[in-house]
Amino acid sequence: MSSGKRDEGQATETLLAHIGRDPFANHGIVNPPVYHASTILYPTLAALEEADRSPYEGTRYGRRGTPTTFALEEAVAALEGGYRSIAQSSGLAAITTALLAFLRAGDHLLMVDTTYGPVRRFCDSMLKGLGIATTYYDPMADITPLLRPETRVVYLESPGSLTFEVQDVGKAAAAARAAAAVSILDNTWSAGLLLRPFALGVDVSIQAATKYIVGHSDVMLGVITANEANWLRVRRASAMLGGAAAPDDCYLALRGLRTLPVRLARHQQTALSVARRLQDHPQVVRVLHPALPSCPGHDVWQRDFSGANGLFSVVLKPASRERLAAMLDGLRLFRMGYSWGGFESLVIPFDPRASRTATAWTDPGLCLRLHCGLEDADDLIADLEAGLARLGAAG
Ligand SMILES: *Cc1c(COP(=O)(O)O)cnc(C)c1O
Repeated sequence: MSSGKRDEGQATETLLAHIGRDPFANHGIVNPPVYHASTILYPTLAALEEADRSPYEGTRYGRRGTPTTFALEEAVAALEGGYRSIAQSSGLAAITTALLAFLRAGDHLLMVDTTYGPVRRFCDSMLKGLGIATTYYDPMADITPLLRPETRVVYLESPGSLTFEVQDVGKAAAAARAAAAVSILDNTWSAGLLLRPFALGVDVSIQAATKYIVGHSDVMLGVITANEANWLRVRRASAMLGGAAAPDDCYLALRGLRTLPVRLARHQQTALSVARRLQDHPQVVRVLHPALPSCPGHDVWQRDFSGANGLFSVVLKPASRERLAAMLDGLRLFRMGYSWGGFESLVIPFDPRASRTATAWTDPGLCLRLHCGLEDADDLIADLEAGLARLGAAG
């Protein structure tokens, strides 16, 4: 495959068009082939012994990946600016593998209160059962007073899931390092494109490639990227836990990477138009979007991020379940479903109180998370305005 390193000064768009493929090693074909494998043969006894001895390469076997997997891993490592990447079967598998790589019984984990919901369940049940204590922290607060001698991992997600509070990633990563803890960032929101986690001092960055990297709502995939000091530990945990990514899925993620910058720019533009329109709507209390000054951490977002995506939330005025159903059931373009990052628009209602313990949420009404897809912005606004009219109608 081509060199995994980014040439000095090369723009990310250029990198993404060329990384992770080597046409003339594959009959001149532009895209890399999909290699399927469980068994991978060794030509000689010496080759077998050599591979089994190497701490870096390990056993050649399909679970570790095929050249299709390695092409994706090389591309994501270059995109994120990390040392190496490891593909996993889902974003959640990437997160749990990264956490288990560093945590042992008796260790303490600092977890951001706005973490992706299933991560909270993993901490509160499985990690707790393993004797690992979790403290949730306010994404807007300094973590230093919460660090303990046994704190081994500081976990960040910025902007946070559902409500999009923007953390000072560099500051938290520095505090973690000063306390000899590893910082792990869920970098899914940025798609690896809008934030440079390793330049900010993060040790491990994970992404649900399921979202924008794949971009077409048809693949589950995660990627862990680490700096050089922490990569081997993650590699070993991944080998022990066995969460392999499928080669067809890696191929689709590589294909998604080629168009990621243009898709993301369009998602951003559309979401900003929709968010600005909703700001003044009588049924909307507040819009939660990192690019709007009303979002907690907006100044940090302006400093650290190079853009936004298609995702944001709105806080609604209190309304009955019947009115909410009238709004949501009648939407024609924003369909209800979990996940985001695909070409189509999505909506999901939520109550932030259900998924936070370190911070208070005082707005009485429900929230909607909106993902603006690649449809026309005016069509999306019309769909939402008709829905909000149903929400606000008497009866
Ligand atoms: C979706 C998501 C995940 C989990 O990814 P899956 O591929 O769905 O397992 C993790 N973090 C964030 C922020 C997500 O939105």
